[in-house]
Amino acid sequence: MADKMIHPTIATVSATRHILKHFKLRASKRLGQNFLIDRSIVNGIVDASDINDGDLVLEIGPGIGTLTQGLLEAGAHVIAVELDKKLPAVLAETLKGYEHLNVVQGDILKVDINGLMGNRPFKVVANLPYYITSSIILTLLEQRLPITKLVTMVQREVAERMVANPETLTPNDSAKIYGALSVAVQYFTEPRIIFDVPPSAFMPQPEVTSSVIVCDVHIPPAVADEKLFFRVVRGAFGQRRKTLINSLMGAGFERQRLIEAMAKAGIDPKLRAESLRLEQFIALADALS
Ligand code: SAM
Repeated sequence: MADKMIHPTIATVSATRHILKHFKLRASKRLGQNFLIDRSIVNGIVDASDINDGDLVLEIGPGIGTLTQGLLEAGAHVIAVELDKKLPAVLAETLKGYEHLNVVQGDILKVDINGLMGNRPFKVVANLPYYITSSIILTLLEQRLPITKLVTMVQREVAERMVANPETLTPNDSAKIYGALSVAVQYFTEPRIIFDVPPSAFMPQPEVTSSVIVCDVHIPPAVADEKLFFRVVRGAFGQRRKTLINSLMGAGFERQRLIEAMAKAGIDPKLRAESLRLEQFIALADALS
């Protein structure tokens, strides 16, 4: 962060305590409120976001403005969507004087994001509320918004699922990490984990270690019918213990049609979903379409 900060940095224990006390706030567990109190982590997220002066950024859940301040100091124009009705008034104080900030009260899963961002390309940067991490990521990606980069703090376990592939080793067989989230994220983006963040970087401390993950959005591979592709992926991982053919029959696909499509795509029906690469899911969906 630059030295010319308008306000003292929010990302410290004392500033966070002071703000919470001053506004009579209590971090809400229900809303996944774990505020960052470590300036070096805020700097790390801002660096990973590769902000150029004037970049448009959608921040999800600005909280009391900790990460928002880092983004604004780096020159971003920030539109921040916050569900907690009490926080816009707090942000108006903690981030008073920063010109390029627009705080919108609402649920990120419900707001018209394209309308909000004026149909312009933008980056998403967020320390996400952990109770809905996957829904937020999938909702953003599936809407085909003009997002160029997604930089998010998520639970480490979710970050590992996002980058997993069929060869990823798992600590034990019951905790398979490659799944529908991995396939969807890798269909839309190139994800990479940047660094881990310990619980001590937050107030209050979460129970788990977190990771910052960068997803560079790319043009998805060609698929004949995208809806069908996602139906196949979700259906395939729906019943992990079953073979691919049985899982997909459970998801409503007809047996003979599956046998023919799998033969066409060169996929052994006795395999399980977790051994299929993204390209194989695409080949299977194309054969079914
Ligand atoms: N950005 C702040 C920071 O890094 O200290 C706060 C991050 S906190 C982990 C998550 C924030 O998301 C909270 O401020 C919470 O109120 C907000 N939030 C929770 N659910 C939301 C939703 N559906 N839409 C928008 N914001 C949400």
